Amino acid sequence: MNSLLPTSTVGSLPKPTWLAEPGTLWSPWKLQGDALVEGKQDALRIAVHEQLRRGIDIISDGEQTRQHFVTTFIEHLSGVDFEQRETVRIRDRYDASVPTVVGAVSREKPVFVDDAKFLRAQTDRPIKWALPGPMTMIDTLSDRHYKSREKLAWEFATILNQEARELEAAGVDVIQFDEPAFNVFHDEVQDWGVATLERAAEGLRAETVVHICYGYGIKANNDWKATLGPEWRQYETSFPLLQQSTIDTVSLESHHSHVPVDLVELLRGKKVMLGAIDVASETVETPEEVAETLRNALRFVDAENLIPSTNCGMAPMSRNASLEKLSALSAGAAIVRAELGA
Ligand SMILES: [Zn+2]
Repeated sequence: MNSLLPTSTVGSLPKPTWLAEPGTLWSPWKLQGDALVEGKQDALRIAVHEQLRRGIDIISDGEQTRQHFVTTFIEHLSGVDFEQRETVRIRDRYDASVPTVVGAVSREKPVFVDDAKFLRAQTDRPIKWALPGPMTMIDTLSDRHYKSREKLAWEFATILNQEARELEAAGVDVIQFDEPAFNVFHDEVQDWGVATLERAAEGLRAETVVHICYGYGIKANNDWKATLGPEWRQYETSFPLLQQSTIDTVSLESHHSHVPVDLVELLRGKKVMLGAIDVASETVETPEEVAETLRNALRFVDAENLIPSTNCGMAPMSRNASLEKLSALSAGAAIVRAELGA
């Protein structure tokens, strides 16, 4: 475990082909019943093993036990009808068939706590668990009950906080909230986005992270990115608010993105999980490329606050490329660590 520049991933890794169809989101499971439970656990074990042997310091579950980073959490809540689906525009970008909120939402039992305990049993290194953020949850749903994005976000924040506290009690060291919606709905981020996120993280002793990105490397996202112009300044809205917030760490895209790296300065004082791995390309970075991305960022973040990471989750990528990228990330971080005299 490296205490300086500890490496991490945003969370998801591709699943084995015997568990789910590769290269696709919302891929159906290939196993059922007890075989599925066992298969998910085996996949999680492999994800942990690969992270360890490739030098990742903060270990994730690879999101091997969930079908999707948002809907799997929502599926476990009452008040949401998964039979009644509607097509809505997600992140103002692409249409998807999503479940409908038909009544008051609540969490009747823990969602990921057993999976997190299983992860905890696999390693002594710090472990990180990702949950969707409140704004991203409401943006992946159709709401026929609250009829207010803000009201529903506060409800989800309360539910997320219950889950996060139980994950912490299960031994999770770092709890991450995924909020790609923060790069799209700038007025709402200001009005209630950061406040509901803080509510979700309230009272936690575990480290807290918010991950804000430009999405998985899927076509709809790549097409959207092509419209954003030469400089992506979306983080300019959220970073000053997060710098003032109770959240410990901000996870952002950097390598191969058009985000001006000086925006990291807006987070000064916070920890920064910096994306030094492109998840929209199968081309594996060289360690030197990773090191260069980290060196650039070090002009705007103190070394003790920098956590080398990936730009986003790697679920839709090929398995080999994603694993080789983990090795590249560790090797690149090692170069910079040596330069810093560590
Ligand atoms: Zn992401």
